[in-house]
Amino acid sequence: MDYLSSFLTSAAVALPAAVIVYLWERWRLARPGGPYARADFSGLILLIALAAAWWPHLTSNPQLTAVLFGGGLIFVIAAVADNWSRGWWLAIVGVAVVAALLSYQGVTVSVVNLPFSQNYVSLGWLGPVITVLWLVICSVLFAQAATILAVPLGVAGLAAGTLFLVCLLQPAITGPMAALMAVTICGASLPQVPFARWLSYARARAGAYTVGYLVGVTSVVGALKDTAFLVALVPLIIVGVPLFAATYSYAAELRRGWRAVVFAERRGHLHDLLLRQGYSQWQVTGLLLGGTVYLCSLVLLLVWMIEVTFVVKTVVVLAALAFGLFFLYALLRLLPRADGQESVAAGGKVRLLGMPLDPITLTDALEEAEHFLEEDHPHMIVTPDASAVVRAQRDQELREIIEQADLVAPDGAGVVLAARLLNLPVNVRCAGCDMVEQLCRAAANKRRAVYLLGGEPGVAEEAAANLQARIAGLQVAGCQHGYFTDEEEPQIVEDIRSKRPGVLLVALGIPRQEKWIKQHLEELDVPICIGVGGSLDVISGRKRRAPVWMQRAGLEWLYRTLKEPSRLPRLVALPKIVWMSIRELLRPSDTPPQSPQEGKYGQ
Ligand code: UDP
Repeated sequence: MDYLSSFLTSAAVALPAAVIVYLWERWRLARPGGPYARADFSGLILLIALAAAWWPHLTSNPQLTAVLFGGGLIFVIAAVADNWSRGWWLAIVGVAVVAALLSYQGVTVSVVNLPFSQNYVSLGWLGPVITVLWLVICSVLFAQAATILAVPLGVAGLAAGTLFLVCLLQPAITGPMAALMAVTICGASLPQVPFARWLSYARARAGAYTVGYLVGVTSVVGALKDTAFLVALVPLIIVGVPLFAATYSYAAELRRGWRAVVFAERRGHLHDLLLRQGYSQWQVTGLLLGGTVYLCSLVLLLVWMIEVTFVVKTVVVLAALAFGLFFLYALLRLLPRADGQESVAAGGKVRLLGMPLDPITLTDALEEAEHFLEEDHPHMIVTPDASAVVRAQRDQELREIIEQADLVAPDGAGVVLAARLLNLPVNVRCAGCDMVEQLCRAAANKRRAVYLLGGEPGVAEEAAANLQARIAGLQVAGCQHGYFTDEEEPQIVEDIRSKRPGVLLVALGIPRQEKWIKQHLEELDVPICIGVGGSLDVISGRKRRAPVWMQRAGLEWLYRTLKEPSRLPRLVALPKIVWMSIRELLRPSDTPPQSPQEGKYGQ
């Protein structure tokens, strides 16, 4: 079959070429003289492989010849641009000129049909303009992704493969030329992926410009000629990963003002962020290519649903994108990283959205607690979750309490996510239940007792019994439920004081427990006081904790909300803290940090 032989020919040329370039690069990199290549040869290999596969068609199809020559021209111009500091202008102008010439040759968007209508609209002069814009956008997006190991080639291969499947699924609305182009680009790109060397391609983008141009052309020549929704959206979904990476790098650069976005030579890249977070090169590549596979599946789903209405398709796309982002977030939490628990620096507070935070792990917490127990004065530990951070923006009393606390340990996936977005060294959350256990261990090690205050009647006693069963030598000074009256309060304070526990666990819910502790801290004279929220309910066994995989994926909040739908309003804190972090991230660096007192975040 013609398609199969084209695929095999392009793959058969690309594979050995990629191996030769890879070996040559290894040899070159091993020698002194700098690790960077002067040009990214992936684009050249791609063009040679395409020329070999299209050879029988070139005389009968002048458009294929034009596409190939255009690609060659772009590669040469972009390779010159690679060696020039402001070269990206030149590369973009090169792509625009080639796109205009192609448009003149008939490779152009000429008609579209509109949503909710069967009518075709002729684009006239707008067609070539859209074509030029689209090809420039595709090339720039792929060039933006060029610094990520193997991503431009991987995305191109997967995207072209998807477009080919689309052509097979819907021959009536696609052209044979699109199918031929797609299948050969797929065959020429994928074999190169395992050999793409990040270091050597780090500065050279000629290949990525060429790859982006070829993917763009494939969508323009009519992989989808019909159905406005697919024409408009499918190409965008297909280049979703480079689009995402470029948007991130522009957004990151926005901190330095719009001039930096337009004129900056080097940008903060998405993969830099992920690498800084401790993910390996191959993990980053895997994540981004996995994202492409997901988006390509979405494209195939949309093409399969071609008869379904525009509104339903829109809903499907939005739901799939939301699910994809959610899944990506969970995956990022689950993947093992180089800077796991051990390497998080202990000591030295960081500031998250105006709040001090100790980037500690549970092991650090145990040591710190033992240290507090040796000292003679009372200490307060606060474990803010997303809702506490959001609330503290407008609750001055809570903010002051967090500010003055001896230890502020991050609790909740929202806080860790916000810290990650802001690139703060907070990688692990100290979940309330784990923190309680560590404090009890510290107390047992130092032969001090614990006092449990809060929860419904019986909860504190049951939690105490369970803790004693788990921690050898743990002494319990007393238990008291949390539904006491104002009149009973002095008596409770006196009871705690007289029993002289080393640790006081207060479970009255945020922010009441923190305010209660602050109010009585000196009077109680307990070395460690901590608000533990619903932890006693879980430790007592009255409420179940989320399964371990959900805890590891940072989804404990989801489990708790599913179990207790009344907690639903609290979920608002999650998007709020993410939004606050994004605003902080995009704030120009010469603007002073948003003062929480101004209360803008929490409104
Ligand atoms: N609670 C209490 N007295 C009160 C209100 C609440 O003892 O007047 C207890 C409640 O029984 C629960 C805990 O405080 O055990 C609050 O748990 P929640 O899950 O709301 O707190 P979070 O962990 O979200 O801070």
